[in-house]
Order: sequence, then structure tokens, then C-alpha cells
Amino acid sequence: MDTARTRAATLRELLARYDHEYYVLDAPSVPDAEYDRLFRELQQIERADPALVEADSPTQRVGAAVSGAFAAVHHPLPMLSLNNAFDDDEVLAFDRRVRERLTEEGLPVAQLRYSAELKYDGVAVSLRYERGLLAQAATRGDGTTGEDVSANVRTVRAIPLRLLGIAPAVLEVRGEVLMYRRDFDRLNERQRAAGEREFVNPRNAAAGSLRQLDPAVTAARPLRFFAYGVGEVAGAALPGAHSTLLDWLAGIGLPVGAERSVVDGPQGLLGFHRRMQSLRPRLAYDIDGVVYKVERRDWYDAIGFVARAPRFALAHKFPAEEALTELLDIEVQVGRTGKLTPVARLHPVFVGGVNVTNATLHNEDEIARKDLLIGDTVVVRRAGDVIPEVVRALPERRGEPPPRRIFTMPRACPVCGSAVVREEGEADWRCVGGLYCAAQRKQALLHFAQRRAMDIDGLGEKRVDQLVDAGLVRTPADLYRLDVATLAGLQRMGATSAASLVEAIGRSRRTGFARFLFALGIRHVGEEVARVLAQRYADTDALMREDWAALVAAKAAAQKDNARRRARGEPVGPVPLERIGPEIVASLQRFFGEPHNRQVIAELQRAGIGFVRQADAGERLAGRTFVVTGMLPTMSREQAHEVIRRHGGTVASSVSRKTDYVVAGQAPGAKLERARELGIAVIDEAILCGMAGESTQRQAPDNPNLSVKRDPA
Ligand code: NAD
Repeated sequence: MDTARTRAATLRELLARYDHEYYVLDAPSVPDAEYDRLFRELQQIERADPALVEADSPTQRVGAAVSGAFAAVHHPLPMLSLNNAFDDDEVLAFDRRVRERLTEEGLPVAQLRYSAELKYDGVAVSLRYERGLLAQAATRGDGTTGEDVSANVRTVRAIPLRLLGIAPAVLEVRGEVLMYRRDFDRLNERQRAAGEREFVNPRNAAAGSLRQLDPAVTAARPLRFFAYGVGEVAGAALPGAHSTLLDWLAGIGLPVGAERSVVDGPQGLLGFHRRMQSLRPRLAYDIDGVVYKVERRDWYDAIGFVARAPRFALAHKFPAEEALTELLDIEVQVGRTGKLTPVARLHPVFVGGVNVTNATLHNEDEIARKDLLIGDTVVVRRAGDVIPEVVRALPERRGEPPPRRIFTMPRACPVCGSAVVREEGEADWRCVGGLYCAAQRKQALLHFAQRRAMDIDGLGEKRVDQLVDAGLVRTPADLYRLDVATLAGLQRMGATSAASLVEAIGRSRRTGFARFLFALGIRHVGEEVARVLAQRYADTDALMREDWAALVAAKAAAQKDNARRRARGEPVGPVPLERIGPEIVASLQRFFGEPHNRQVIAELQRAGIGFVRQADAGERLAGRTFVVTGMLPTMSREQAHEVIRRHGGTVASSVSRKTDYVVAGQAPGAKLERARELGIAVIDEAILCGMAGESTQRQAPDNPNLSVKRDPA
């Protein structure tokens, strides 16, 4: 008994604190689900022993006392809360109770219908119109006394200052002030930029904006309003059904939600709940459930009220999108590009309709910004199909065990042990073990084999998955050890395709150094950079021998010298590795500094990778600029560009004196004219392919525009 009494007291104290944070400060420290859980626990204790119920228990009253910053407003008709249902059984019980009440009162149960609408997640307000003009607006407060927020409400554009077409002596409209999610995000961006407090969610932003002491601040906040009922009425005849009352309110100029329905029986109620739950992520604003109300308003008094809520209405809540749990640990995952991502391991928690056990934390700055310690109690959010996220920690709970730990990013890759680096201006750490790192293996192999790199025909995503999963290939060097017999043993791989794959791998042994460099997948080394490097270095050994510090110094000196020459109007001299900046140099140093990578390169060399002279492999068009115009006979323009680039040529979009060749097809247009004016060679697709050492698919018709003719052969 005593423990129930003590527990009830503890719960009342906790709930009173949360009520104050939520209703008065507009800054809740725990998710609604946590509040609801404690609230229900208290309800259960009180139900088991009604002697424990106290008049000031949160279960007996609405909201919280008003803050005193605004004038008090007495509600002639109280503004009540709603009873909540969290599952289908509770909805069935609600329907049963309503039917029982109607039977007891001798009312025709067979006529029972419900009006179903959305439960807007905002702040309740009562708008008092006198003779059709907005006279006063008040918050709900404790249900009997609210706060006068008239000046602020007048700034909300969605709320009419004058009703359309009617002017009853008194009409109190009840509804919810809220903020659209998009507007909320923008508001928080502005708050952040101004170094001001950010709001936890749109509901609290709406409440905080409405309860501003300066109406000018409210005016600058994008608030909206939806009406869902009435309070005191004098001098107007209202429709008898709730659904028609809402239509009537819409007719006199009040915003009323469009998502509503009149339904029969529990199945109708549950069907509406399901439909709205799937609609929820697409709505512009937050809802936390749906509300069912008995359709006939003249039955309300007969059905009656409990302490804080009517018996003729029910809020059927959606699964919470935020919940509390414990951050058990932070682990680091290595992605396919080497990016290290810290992931929160969570004590399993049911949120947003699923069990959540982990959530990405993005990067180490994010962890610092959210001030997360391992062992913390954290708020986890999962809305719609969006991946779960850790929103924030509850530092006030740090007094409780277990001990907390600070997370630090590992200094070596947790998968392969290679070094990890975080480049200046970047948020992510990356493993530099590219070719060697198991996490990056498949990605590295696909990159290595692609057409623009080692060009290994038949080594696509599926094959790479198969080879890696079967443990046959760990690094690109392993590819060169594969034989037909081993490959033919794999699923969906016949002897013929095994043989052609081995042959394609074999063929790739003869390649250009630029392609090989690109194939290694060094960060910041794309095809263009690889080409520039290949012009200076003959092979990887030469690259690895480079004294980078000396090179950087030489570059700086040459650039300085050129600046001086330019100032004197003299011709400038060459700069070593002109287009290779410090970022690329650092990346090269890191890559070749990693022993694992050097080992893979040594194995590739042993596997017989040999570099052929540039002109033989992929560099046949090097140093030449091409413009493609008109419709080519067998290739699209993009394909022609691809051929040019693949063989080291440059593609330009317009003809100038720097153009070496214009590749012309049918209906070439102005570019051909320009080429003729400038005396630039005009060729066709077949000649281009011939120059590149590639063959076209079919013979093109004669093209009269050519200045360079094909051999008749
Ligand atoms: P409620 O929000 O569960 O339901 C009642 C309210 O729903 C009404 O007052 C009205 O404002 C609103 N409503 C929205 N759409 C409506 C519609 N179509 N028809 C009628 N009413 C509609 O109850 P409450 O008493 O306002 O607040 C209690 C809830 O607030 C708790 O369940 C909890 O989730 C949350 N809360 C959270 C904390 C916290 O610390 N996180 C603290 C206090 C309260």
C-alpha cells in the first residue's frame, strides 16, 4: 500500500514538473510518450485504490495553472482535454461505453454515428466573437481559466477578425493553433542563425509563439489555425450534428480541416485511424492521432463527462514518434567509400511503429553538437519511413547510474586497421586502406574493373559480390590469380563465361599508367588527374619515390616566379604538376604511405601488370580537342564524347581556334560553318573511331561534309 502511495506521489511530482515545462515554459524535456506512460501508470494506481486520488492529481485536471504573464480569462464553458486510446481494444471499449450510456438514457442506439477528424498537435485556443467581431482569444490554461492572448491571435492571418455573413451575440470557436513543419524548420534556422533558443517541435514553437509578450514577435511567426468545435453560443442556431457544425464554421470563414469523415461502429473508427496514419507523413503539419466524436450534439449532456474530459469523444493516438531509451554504445561502421560512421546502439525501444535498436549519428561533430555520452538517456525519433535518429540527450538524468563515457573516433580503421584521416573542411573521417579494406573491397574492385579504369569486361556488380562473398578475391591483385576451373565452379557461371572472364582479366595486364592510377581509387585522383600524373611519372615506383615536400616547394617557387614575370609582361614558365593542388598531393602521400596499399601494388606488379606507352593505351587522342556536331550514324553524341575521352582527347562544346577536329554527322548546323571558316579538319564517326583504334558497328552512309576522307578499304 505504502509503495503505491509513494509511487503515486513520485508520479504526481514528476508529471507536475513536466506539465510546467510543457504548458508554461513551452519547453518539454521528455517526449510525450514518456509523459503518457507515467500518466497511465498513475491512472492505474488511482483506479486500483481510489483513496489515493487527490484533487490536484494531473489525472483530475486539465493542463496547468496559467503563468501570470497574461491577463486571466474565465471560460464560461470549460475547455476540456480528451480521453486517450492507444490501441484498438480501447476504442472498442469507448464505443461500448457510449452505447451503454445511450441505452441507459433511453436514446436510440441504432442511430449512433461518429464524426472522425484529425487530432492537431498544436495549442488549444478559444476565440470569442461578439456580434461577429473577434473580441477575445484565450488559451486553455487549466480548463476554467486561460490566458488572454487576444493581441497575439489578431496577428494570425488564418483567423478571421470578422465572421462572414452572421453576427450572433456570442460565438466561441474552439480550435488549435499550430505551425506547419516547413515553417517550423525555417523558424529554427532563423533562431539558430540569431543564436537564439531552438524549439523542440512545431507544437512547442506554436505555443511559444502564441504566448509571446510582444505581439510583433507573434506576427513574425507563421501560425495557422483549425477550428474543431464551439464553446458558449448566444443568438445563433447551430447545426445539430458535429460534422455539419464544422461545415457551418467553414461557411462563416473559419479554417476547418478537410480530412474528416462520418463513420459507423468500431470498424468505421479503426478504418479512419488507419487511413489517417498512412496519410500522416504527407500532411504539412503534425497530428498525434485522430479524434472521434459522437455525431449528435444533442446527446452530449446525456452521455456526460468525467473529471477532465467528455465521455462522448475519444482521442485515438498514433504510435509515438519519439521515445526515451538508453544509449548503450557508439560503434563505428566503415562504408563502401571508406567513410567512418558512428552508429548508436540503443536499448530496444518501440517508436514510430517499429522496434529501434540502432541509429546513425552521422559524424563526430554531430555527437559533440548533441552532447551525447555513452550511457545517456536519449530521445529517439522515427517519423514515417524516415530512418530513426537520436534527437538529444537528457543531461539532467546523468546523476543516475550507469557511468557515462565520452565517445572518441578511432584513430585506425576498425575493419582493416589502416590509418583514418579527416580532411580540412570535411566532417567525415575516412579509412585510407582503399584497396585493402574489407569494408571497401567490393567498391574498390568495381572501380578497379570499370571500363574507364582497367576495363575488365564481365566483372560487374553481381560477379564482384560473388567473388568476394566466396572469399576468392580480397584485393585487385587476387583477380590475376583466378583460373577457369575455380570460376567455373561458381553458381551461374558456365565454362565459357569463366574462360572469357579470365581472358578479360589477362588482357587488362597491358594498360596505360593513367588508367592504372585511376583504377587504384585514390581519393581526389579522377581520370584527369591520373592523366596529368602519368605524364610526369612512368609508374608507381616513380610516384612513390617522389619527394613531395620538395615538389610542393618547387611548385610554389615556379608560381611566384611566374607572377613576377606576368607583372613585367614576360612570358611565363612551366609549373611542375600544374593542375595538382595540395589536396591531391596530401591524398597521394596518404595512399602511398599506407603499407597495405603498397603491398597490394607490389602484388599487382608481381601479377604482371605492365604499362604500355601512352599512345597505345588510351592516349591515342591525347592533346587533341574535338567538337561533335549533327547526328552521327551509329553513336549518340554522348557515346562519341566517351570514345574521345577514353582515348585521352578533350571534348569542347563550341568550335574555336583551339579545336583540332570537328566530328560531323547529319544536319550539322552552325558548328560546321565555323569549322570551315577557321579551316579546322572535319571528320566523321568512322574516322574518329579509326583514330581511336576502335571499330564502328556499321558502315555509315557517305557524308559530303568531310574534309578528311576515309580510306576506300
Ligand atoms: P491531448 O493533447 O491528449 O488532447 C486534448 C487536446 O487535443 C484538446 O485540448 C485540443 O487542444 C486538442 N485537439 C486537437 N485536435 C482536436 C480535435 N479535432 N478535436 C478536439 N480536440 C482536439 O490532451 P492535453 O490535455 O492537451 O495534453 C495532454 C498531452 O500533452 C499528453 O498526452 C502528453 O502527450 C502531452 N504532454 C506532454 C508533456 C511533456 O512533458 N512532454 C507534458 C504535458 C503534456
